Amino acid sequence: MGGNGKIAVVGAGLSGAVIGRELALAGYSVEIFDVRDHIAGNCYSERDADTGVMVHIYGPHIFHTDDEEVWNYVNRFQTFMPYKNRVKTTVDEQVFSLPVNLHTINQFFGKTFRPDEARAFIEEKADKTIADPQTFEEQALRFVGRELYEAFFKGYTEKQWGCSPTQLPASILKRLPVRFNYDDNYFFHRFQGMPENGYTDMVAGILDHPGITVHLGTRFDKSQNDAYDHVFYSGPLDGYFNYEFGRLGYRTLDFERFTYEGDYQGCAVMNYGDPDVPYTRITEHKHFSPWESVAGSVCYREFSRLCGEDDVPFYPIRLVEEKQLLASYVERAEAETSVTFVGRLGTYRYLDMDVTIREALDTAALYRKKTADNAPVPAFLHSPL
Ligand SMILES: Cc1cc2nc3c(=O)[nH]c(=O)nc-3n(C[C@H](O)[C@H](O)[C@H](O)COP(=O)(O)OP(=O)(O)OC[C@H]3O[C@@H](n4cnc5c(N)ncnc54)[C@H](O)[C@@H]3O)c2cc1C
Repeated sequence: MGGNGKIAVVGAGLSGAVIGRELALAGYSVEIFDVRDHIAGNCYSERDADTGVMVHIYGPHIFHTDDEEVWNYVNRFQTFMPYKNRVKTTVDEQVFSLPVNLHTINQFFGKTFRPDEARAFIEEKADKTIADPQTFEEQALRFVGRELYEAFFKGYTEKQWGCSPTQLPASILKRLPVRFNYDDNYFFHRFQGMPENGYTDMVAGILDHPGITVHLGTRFDKSQNDAYDHVFYSGPLDGYFNYEFGRLGYRTLDFERFTYEGDYQGCAVMNYGDPDVPYTRITEHKHFSPWESVAGSVCYREFSRLCGEDDVPFYPIRLVEEKQLLASYVERAEAETSVTFVGRLGTYRYLDMDVTIREALDTAALYRKKTADNAPVPAFLHSPL
C-alpha cells in the first residue's frame, strides 16, 4: 500500500534516516530537519584533515547486534569491517583487561587460577551477608567482593554517573559482571563491526532517495506540524513541550581532544578507574579502524558531568525523580495527534544503534499499517516508562 502524504521527520540521525527512507520507499514525500549542520546525529564521524583519522565526533560508536535483519540492513549501505571491542583499564598504576575476566583476576590477585578455581575464589570473596541487593554497590559486593568492586567498578561508576554507587539501583549491574575465561570481547553479539567509510557515509546512503529532502541547520518547531500529515520527532521529548514540567536529567560528556604522532596508547579504549583521575577514559580513534594505516593519531579524554541547558544530552539518568517527570511528558505526548516520538531523545531511553534501527523500521511499518486501516497512529512504539 503506497502513501502520497507529506511527512516531517525531526532529526537526521539513525532514527530519522531509517524512518524517512522506509516511508519514501512507500511513496511518501519526506522532509527531514536537523538543527545541526550535518546528518547522522550522534553517530556522526568525519575524517580529520591533518591526520586522516576517522574521528567519531560525539564519542566512539561500535556496531554490534544479534538482529540479523538489522545487520543485513546496514550492510546494504556500507561494507562492515571486522572489529572486536577490547577495552583496557588503568588502575593503581597497572593495566588490566576488561570486562573483568580470568586474566584480570589472575593479574590482580597474583594467581594462576583455572576457571573453576577462580570461580570458587571469587565466591569466597563475595559478600554473602547481602541477601537482597538494592543498590549498585550492594549488587557488586554480593557478586565480586570488595577488592574487585573498588578496583574496577566503584571509581569508574562514580565518575560516569556523578554519584555514589550506593545511590544507584542494583539493576544497573544485572548479571555477574565477571568472566571465568580469557574472553575479552566487550560484546556478546553475533554480528560486530565498523563501517568502512564511517557512519556518516552509511547514513548518507540511507538518506539517498528521491522522495527525501534534508534541511540541515534547521530547527523544527511544533508550530509547523499542520503542514504535514504526520511528524516523527527524534528530538528531546521535554524540548518538544518547551520543558514546561522541567528538564529530564541527562549526563553529558566533554571531550578533550589531542593529537599524537604515532600510537598514543596502543588500543582503542583505555578506562581510568582511579577516582583521582578526573576523566573516565581515553579513546584513540584510529584503533577503531584497524584496517587503515595512519601515522598520526587523534585521541579524546572523556569527562562525564550533569547535562546543562546548552550541552549535548548523552545518557538519560532515569532515576526515580526523572521517571516521575517522564510520566508527565508521556501523558502530554500521548494527547498529541499526528506526532510519533522516536529514538533515544524522543523516548528518553539509552538505545544502541541496532535497537534504534530496529525500532525505526518497526515504527515505519506500524505507521503504514495504521494509516491503511484508518486507525490512529500511537505517540510511542514502546512506552518510554
Ligand atoms: C557517548 C555515546 C556512545 C555511544 N556508543 C554506541 C556504540 O558504541 N554502539 C551503539 O550501538 N550505540 C552507541 N550509542 C548510541 C547511539 O548514539 C544511538 O543509538 C543513536 O545515536 C540514536 O540515534 P537517534 O537518531 O535516535 O538520535 P540522535 O543521533 O541523537 O539524532 C537526533 C537528531 O535530532 C536533531 N534534533 C533534535 N531536536 C531537533 C529539532 N527541534 N529540530 C531539528 N533537529 C533536531 C539532533 O540535532 C540530532 O542530530 C552511543 C551513544 C552515546 C551517547
